[in-house]
Amino acid sequence: MTRKQMLGLMGATAAGTVASTLTGSAAEAAALEAADGLDAKHVIRRDVCVIGGGSAGTYLAVRLGDLGRSVAVVEARNRLGGHCETHHDPATGGTVDIGVVVFEDQPLVRSYFDRFGIELTTLAGFRGNTTYIDFRTGRRVDYTQPPPAALPEYYRVISQYGPIDTFFDLPDPVPQDLVAPFREFVAKHNVGSVVPLVFQYGQGIGDILDLPALYSINTFGQGVVKNILGGSFLTTAAHNNSLLYERATAHLGDDVLLDSQVLRVERSASGVQVLVATPDGPRLIVARKLVVTIPPLLRNFAGFDLDATERNVFGQFISGAYYTGVVRMSGLPAGVDLANAAADTAYQLPPLPGIYGIGPTGVPGLYNVKYGSTAPLPEGQVRRGIRADIERVAKAGTYPLVLDDLEVFKSHTPFELHVTPQAIAGGFYRRLNALQGRNRTFYSGASFNSHNSTRIWDAAEVLLPSIAA
Ligand SMILES: Cc1cc2nc3c(=O)[nH]c(=O)nc-3n(C[C@H](O)[C@H](O)[C@H](O)COP(=O)(O)OP(=O)(O)OC[C@H]3O[C@@H](n4cnc5c(N)ncnc54)[C@H](O)[C@@H]3O)c2cc1C
Repeated sequence: MTRKQMLGLMGATAAGTVASTLTGSAAEAAALEAADGLDAKHVIRRDVCVIGGGSAGTYLAVRLGDLGRSVAVVEARNRLGGHCETHHDPATGGTVDIGVVVFEDQPLVRSYFDRFGIELTTLAGFRGNTTYIDFRTGRRVDYTQPPPAALPEYYRVISQYGPIDTFFDLPDPVPQDLVAPFREFVAKHNVGSVVPLVFQYGQGIGDILDLPALYSINTFGQGVVKNILGGSFLTTAAHNNSLLYERATAHLGDDVLLDSQVLRVERSASGVQVLVATPDGPRLIVARKLVVTIPPLLRNFAGFDLDATERNVFGQFISGAYYTGVVRMSGLPAGVDLANAAADTAYQLPPLPGIYGIGPTGVPGLYNVKYGSTAPLPEGQVRRGIRADIERVAKAGTYPLVLDDLEVFKSHTPFELHVTPQAIAGGFYRRLNALQGRNRTFYSGASFNSHNSTRIWDAAEVLLPSIAA
């Protein structure tokens, strides 16, 4: 359907407004039939249309339902879950969470999983017996991660800025502490011993030392630190976090449109119309409100009627990049995991692009690999990079690794949308947050909260009354 047809479709209704489409008049049915064969049965009427069915979109859809609101979720992929993904090994039946692994130990998390009958268990730490390797050479680095003695002090310092792991609700003017590179924040507050942990938890963020401290603190914030100090992260007992999304999909039923592409979004004072290409043909979702949970990059808003303010804000985002894979490999002693480290850098952080680490999965012979870059890369280059990094370890004689196959490869890019220090200091996040509710549109997800599902769900609870109103 062309833009002209869409506008014609809207204009042909009784009063020539979206409101008349909302009433479901005979004129509307005639207009729909005239436009590319769309008739009234292709119109989905809901209180809220949610675009993107990952962590934020799925949670909001479920909770809006609890509040008696009808929803339609438009998801581009063939499943809900977004960055939460589980690999099923056909040979053993074993499962490996290759995306989201841990959740904070919060009543909200427990009740969300509980309502879907999913058992949780605690996960004390990520690392077991770690060998540090400089993957540029394949050689072992003589390094032991320091105990994070400064963690309580780090927590004290970041707490003065409030829960910026949940909302980018920054003081005005924005403190230089948050705008300056994280390396300056660390030096000023003498909290260097937490850097390796921040890097480990902040996989996908990019060069944490050079980026504004805001981004490290957003990812490694009060919620995460509390859970580290308490040793109480949660994961599913079945090691299959995707169960949450499978059960949510069943719960939401026909309200989920999978494999669907947004073609056009028109918002007006009286409502929202979202034209969607689904596997069953085009559908027009007519709703009172819109919730956007996809990464807010301009290219993801193709077909949206963004106004100049929205375009200006979203046009400032820069994307990082994060990739994951599952490799079938031999030659690593049982229980050993490999972490990338550099002998010649501050805090021994490895240069990116490069492997973060390779760790056992619980399924014999299968290892989880994580790879990061400060900017998106061609996927072929990342695949080759992973192979070359592993082969270098064998060539250097460190471990006799033999890579049989890169069985799974996933790009989680775009990842960690960020803006320049100048934009942060100039009030970018004030302007971003001011978009909530504008043009009947609300926003949720990593770029508005943080790359942390628990924080996203916490923030969603705060947003829910406005969306449901
Ligand atoms: C490898 C990895 C490990 C992680 N580990 C953890 C962890 O252990 N704990 C944790 O809390 N967080 C973790 N995260 C962070 C994770 O990003 C967040 O927890 C959370 O998934 C972000 O939610 P979201 O809704 O913003 O994005 P997503 O979950 O990515 O959801 C966005 C959804 O929108 C869909 N979409 C995109 N574009 C369109 C479009 N145009 N139209 C329709 N749909 C679209 C996507 O397919 C996706 O389903 C991890 C992330 C990665 C990549």
